Amino acid sequence: MFDHHCTACAQRQLIFPSQITGVANTDHGIVVSFTCACGAGQTMLTGRRKASTEKVTLAA
Ligand SMILES: [Zn+2]
Repeated sequence: MFDHHCTACAQRQLIFPSQITGVANTDHGIVVSFTCACGAGQTMLTGRRKASTEKVTLAA
């Protein structure tokens, strides 16, 4: 369960697992598709951020 600001009804809604319609793993993280309590289809990006392969070099 998580909360989401719906772009259709402009309400902060609690999203329950039963409302989730799909989960997709992308380069940007995990995209969760779900249906808001108002009936609008929504997506949310969650999970890990895109891993940075850039190494930080400390100038000593
Ligand atoms: Zn909604």
